[in-house]
Amino acid sequence: TADDDILRARGLIRVVHDHPEPGIAFQDITPLLADARALRACVEAMVAPFAGRFDVVAGLEARGFLLAGAAAVLTGSGLIPLRKAGRLPAPAARADYVLEYGQASIEVSEDLGAGDRVLVVDDVLATGGTLAAAHRLVAARGASVAGSACLLELDGLGGRDVVPDVHTLIGV
Ligand code: AMP
Repeated sequence: TADDDILRARGLIRVVHDHPEPGIAFQDITPLLADARALRACVEAMVAPFAGRFDVVAGLEARGFLLAGAAAVLTGSGLIPLRKAGRLPAPAARADYVLEYGQASIEVSEDLGAGDRVLVVDDVLATGGTLAAAHRLVAARGASVAGSACLLELDGLGGRDVVPDVHTLIGV
């Protein structure tokens, strides 16, 4: 069943300690992506609560792109990349946010249009800062957020408190 496949998917997360720096337990989803059944089950379960409520899927660079592309094709939606600042040839809006060390920015093109209903997708929800910035970026284009979906949620970091309507599959 789909639930069995999600359970299998949980076993396909590779935890890499001290990457990219000491003290970080990096949640590597590449074994899960490589598994056809786990990938399909996860993407289906990520989008299910928002069925019929979004027109486009917006994926966060870089691992969010992989899941968002699959989600867009699966649901017959358009795909919008939310890119790290400086990467898009023609950015139309930008949102800044604070990281543990320093700050970051994401940008989107004018292809995200006013009135679009957006499902925002990323691989991991940690503090929620990235998704909260994505929501501001969507709003800056006059579009609306239907919800957010992540494969993994790091418990105890408060991400859920700063991202409205976030749906995650696997808690770690
Ligand atoms: P945050 O903004 O704190 O919610 O962090 C979420 C973003 O950072 C996502 O784009 C994740 O890809 C990445 N991230 C944060 N922590 C981890 C982790 N332990 N393993 C893998 N990716 C992470």
